[in-house]
Amino acid sequence: MIGKDKIYVTKTFLPPQEEYSTILKEVFDSHWLTNRGKLALALEEKIKKKLNVRHMFLLNNGTIPIQIALKLFGNGGEIITTPFSYVATTSSIVWEGCTPVFVDIDPTYLSIDETKIQASITPRTKAILATHVYGNPCNVEAIAAIAKQHNIKVIYDAAHCFGVSYKGSSLFNYGDISTCSFHATKVFHTGEGGAIFCDSDDIFHHSYYAHNFGHDGPLSFHGLGVNGKISELQAAMGLSVLPYMDHILAERKRVVEAYDQMLNFNKIDRLAIRPGTDWNHSYYPIFFGSEEALLVAERHLNGHGIYPRRYFYPSLNTLPYVEYVKMPVSESIAKRVLCLPLHTALSTDQVTFICNTINDIV
Ligand SMILES: *Cc1c(COP(=O)(O)O)cnc(C)c1O
Repeated sequence: MIGKDKIYVTKTFLPPQEEYSTILKEVFDSHWLTNRGKLALALEEKIKKKLNVRHMFLLNNGTIPIQIALKLFGNGGEIITTPFSYVATTSSIVWEGCTPVFVDIDPTYLSIDETKIQASITPRTKAILATHVYGNPCNVEAIAAIAKQHNIKVIYDAAHCFGVSYKGSSLFNYGDISTCSFHATKVFHTGEGGAIFCDSDDIFHHSYYAHNFGHDGPLSFHGLGVNGKISELQAAMGLSVLPYMDHILAERKRVVEAYDQMLNFNKIDRLAIRPGTDWNHSYYPIFFGSEEALLVAERHLNGHGIYPRRYFYPSLNTLPYVEYVKMPVSESIAKRVLCLPLHTALSTDQVTFICNTINDIV
């Protein structure tokens, strides 16, 4: 009954349990639970083929790959970054002993404003860490040109981007390193998990060794490393979810199109996707005229058993452990954005119910 069951922002897609169990049986038979097992290798091959990317390897979550990329490129220097993302983007910079230098976001696409990057580059700048927020690509061409001119690296936090193509190529193919998250709330998941994508052999080797303690053999070490390995249990989940990706993407598209059709956009705005993008419908953010309007709507929705989330709040330049510099666009967006429920199990009747509940109040 619609209006009785609580509706959350997401509901993790799970394959039929016997399909997961069948794959898991290999783990029980082999007693091999981690350390680059057969299932992890098989999942990597399948993902590389599906997305047509050159180098890619799996990790235990979507934050360690950001930290590894910053360890390789950051060298304790300044990292130009976006204030509008999940906290992991900024916390990784600080965790790696680098300094975040925030550049405000583009008011249309909500990713880092490429026209403002140049002015923030100093002799200490090592890299740009930008987020393709909601799977919406940054201006990758402009950013590549700036990075080349100043001889700095580009890292994309592409946590939201599984299944996104830009100008005919996987979005993971842009930048020196792209990272992804396979957390249970993401479009494709392994429960917890993540990945590094890159084109360069050299960057692949360095980041690959770094995720496995620096080992390049049982008794020898290539360099400094950490434990970022994915387990076979996570890989088994990924292998059982991956065959459903087309279904997952199609169902998400259905929900997004229903929102587009039924919401009243007189008082709220929706996300603009950069032209040239084949999007994955990963999030449905709506933007209110003010934070007060958002809070009224959120309370009203909660009263009807609907639980959207304030992705992404707060603006990351206001975190207690960074130096505050005003970012007017990001701060304004972060206060006014609410992500609506979006997942494969959401029926069109439920979307209608959510839209009516919102339209009632705005
Ligand atoms: C989810 C997310 C992460 C972190 O991924 P985990 O797998 O949870 O570690 C990083 N950046 C962004 C933008 C995210 O949304």
